[in-house]
Amino acid sequence: MAKRPQSVEIRSYQVGFGDCFLVSFVYSESDKRHILIDFGTTGLPKPLKPSTHMPLVAQDIADVCNGDRLTAVIATHRHADHISGFGTDGKTGESGKAIKGLHPRLVLQPWTEDPDARTDARSATRTSSRSPKSFTASLRARHEVAQMIHDFVNTPRAADLSASLRRELSFVGETNIANKSAIDNLIAMGRAKGAKAVWAHHGSSSGLERLLPGVKVRVLGPPDLTQTESIKTQRAKDPDQFWHLLAGRDGASQKNPIASGLGNAPSKRGAAVPVEGRWFKGRLEHLRGDQLLQIVRELDAQMNNTSLILLFEVFGKKLLFPGDAQLENWSYALVDAPDSKATKALLADVDFYKVGHHGSLNATPKKLLWEAFTKRGTQKQLTTMVSTMPGKHGKVVSRTEVPRRTLLDALASESDLHNTNRLSAAARTFAFHHLVTIEP
Ligand SMILES: [Zn+2]
Repeated sequence: MAKRPQSVEIRSYQVGFGDCFLVSFVYSESDKRHILIDFGTTGLPKPLKPSTHMPLVAQDIADVCNGDRLTAVIATHRHADHISGFGTDGKTGESGKAIKGLHPRLVLQPWTEDPDARTDARSATRTSSRSPKSFTASLRARHEVAQMIHDFVNTPRAADLSASLRRELSFVGETNIANKSAIDNLIAMGRAKGAKAVWAHHGSSSGLERLLPGVKVRVLGPPDLTQTESIKTQRAKDPDQFWHLLAGRDGASQKNPIASGLGNAPSKRGAAVPVEGRWFKGRLEHLRGDQLLQIVRELDAQMNNTSLILLFEVFGKKLLFPGDAQLENWSYALVDAPDSKATKALLADVDFYKVGHHGSLNATPKKLLWEAFTKRGTQKQLTTMVSTMPGKHGKVVSRTEVPRRTLLDALASESDLHNTNRLSAAARTFAFHHLVTIEP
């Protein structure tokens, strides 16, 4: 019989507000293949500190690997709460170096992270010769804007903003800054001898199959620009369509930032995002606090929608890891893509679901995804894991708190839920991860 795993162990580590999942495919006692999906934090429960806690997590990952190389490192998207642990600049101790020392064979990221896209547009995504360069340039500008807002909050000029607004601006701003140290380490790991880097998009190969015999891996998101261009055409009149905003505005906005930036009336979803950092700097002080918050939230949502969505199929079981994908990324996979019907059918009987975006209100689409899961219910055939920490993101009064209460209730009553926030007390005794074993 062809080689295939006997079981899969999934560990979700206590990283406060962030994600860190170690997925181990057990082929035999002596052959276990480990993939690390995200490793970051932007807030830890007291008294934990990133500089001391993240190296302990890295050490535990190394212990689980027990002398083996990591089979793969996956960074679902660029947010600090998913990649800060890969940094080597001291903020998270030496945790990035420890992961690098596990010599991952594959580094898998979304296509938006392809470093060649910045200098060589032709090799960027291998699917579009024109757009990627301006797209990644605009992502860079967005990091600059996030940095400016984050810095501004700590100046005396921001003193008249309320403390809670300053806190939220600072938090979301920090999440969206460029994370250079972590990004550089991810690039270095992918370029190391005997390693390979893959930048994936909806329908493309993950590069994981040859490393994981008997496991089928599908990349369901994010869509690339070629795929989203078609959405742009279909939805040219929909101002709330996220991918429309990304693909459509950037070119024109370089010439006339006001026409496509803050000069526009804000859409229902919030203010339009400025894409020209230098221009934004002059405007920043004239904006009201709530306008800044709209901008920084929009930046946050756009980056979340560059998340990889991965489906693993092994011995008839299905494991779904969507990073922080929000509604627009899901909508492509489940509504707009040519193969959306097949994808919907595939996801209906998922056995394991990594809850999207720390349990936020718009990352587990209720009708499209959650209600379509046939294994949810009082029998709890569905296993779920959420990595989260309340009080960092959104507000209870506006029903935008993360994790969202109603979603957590549904997860708890209709699935076998493992919530890292429950680990808070145990973290001090180093029982700092949940472990779920999936068997045939
Ligand atoms: Zn996140």
